[in-house]
Amino acid sequence: MKPDSSRRNFLRVGLTLPAIGLAGSRPGAAFQPPSSIPYRTLGKTGLKVCPVGVGVGFTPDPSVIARAVDLGINYFDTANDYSNGNSERLLTTGLKGVPRDKVIVVSKTPAKTRGVFMADLEDSLKNLATDRIDIWLLHAKSKPEEVPDELLEAGNEAKKQGKIRFFGVSTHDLDLMADHFVKAGNIDAVTFTYNFTMGTGREAAIAKLSKAGIGLTAMKVMAANGGVLPDFSAMTAGRAPGRGPGGGGVGAQARGGMPPRPAAIKNPLPALKWVLRNPTVATTIPGVRDIEMLEMNLRALSEKFTAEDERLLSARSEEIRPYYCRMCYSCRGQCPKGMPVPDQLRILAYADFYGDFPLAQRSFSALPKEVRALRCGDCSECSVRCPNGVRVADRLIRAQELLA
Ligand code: SF4
Ligand code: SF4
Repeated sequence: MKPDSSRRNFLRVGLTLPAIGLAGSRPGAAFQPPSSIPYRTLGKTGLKVCPVGVGVGFTPDPSVIARAVDLGINYFDTANDYSNGNSERLLTTGLKGVPRDKVIVVSKTPAKTRGVFMADLEDSLKNLATDRIDIWLLHAKSKPEEVPDELLEAGNEAKKQGKIRFFGVSTHDLDLMADHFVKAGNIDAVTFTYNFTMGTGREAAIAKLSKAGIGLTAMKVMAANGGVLPDFSAMTAGRAPGRGPGGGGVGAQARGGMPPRPAAIKNPLPALKWVLRNPTVATTIPGVRDIEMLEMNLRALSEKFTAEDERLLSARSEEIRPYYCRMCYSCRGQCPKGMPVPDQLRILAYADFYGDFPLAQRSFSALPKEVRALRCGDCSECSVRCPNGVRVADRLIRAQELLA
């Protein structure tokens, strides 16, 4: 089923609404810059990093970067494939005049071959106006075969050429990848999904990497990103029926009884503080859209994690349960049609939780053609069972209506 353009517009309009709620939900206490930054060591790289970094992917204004440097933040994460290099160029503008050795610039490539790896590296060096990137990561690799010897050797080669200082990988499936990373022997740093919805589920993999001296950076630390949640219930109300038996199918089943959307989160600080409690995580890269958000994030360095924070996060975790995929990957391989459920839910999260529809659209377009052609509304029932309570079919139908 292909949604008509008015329906697609309707779906997209919903994505712009929650940012307003977010702006109004920040805690009001006046910002006091931390008296000192408790820098942590990023594994065997030896780099001293501010535990609160900046995920530049959603930053719209270079002045945010300049302010971050003023406040003592020294870790900036971007990617060659964020906005076709515009994110890297924005970072360059924001760092203008800052001595190069005062900041750690991290960028990434989605390369699958050595040739693309090297071409992206040259492109990123140009975008970042530098002759050496501090940490160069393979981007979003969540299966061992996506990090083959060819790319590991390319990492060594780039280091030898002096174009990168350290080499690593970003992943959404740390549990599956940890052994592969340790065995590779030349991975200096790993950036991975880690937030309060995961509880202690990532601890064994984290400990393994930490023991191997691999520097750890947490991403997607806010889970639902500070409450960027559109009104799914209103959006799904007009959905066309699925084509399963009886004219309904899994689409019709999913439409019934979807809980009301969670309210915008009042204070995203507890989520960041939760991650920072783990001393083996050297730094974090929350997405930063403005200076107010940046300053709020920094408060996580001086505020203690409290019982009230725990209670808030526990309630939040329940609230977002039907919508938010925790990327545990335990549903991998369950769909008889070969749907990569966690991948498609992650891509939907870019739109629904991060408000970045173009990124979601680009990521969806990069899926294999046969995956893009799958329609969950065609199934009479969904055989995927999520132990975390995600309404898998409903969310996937939304992804397909929005992005396919
Ligand atoms: S849908 Fe559920 S089982 Fe699958 S990865 Fe997400 S949280 Fe895990
Ligand atoms: S509804 Fe479930 S079983 Fe059917 S294609 Fe979607 S994920 Fe697979």
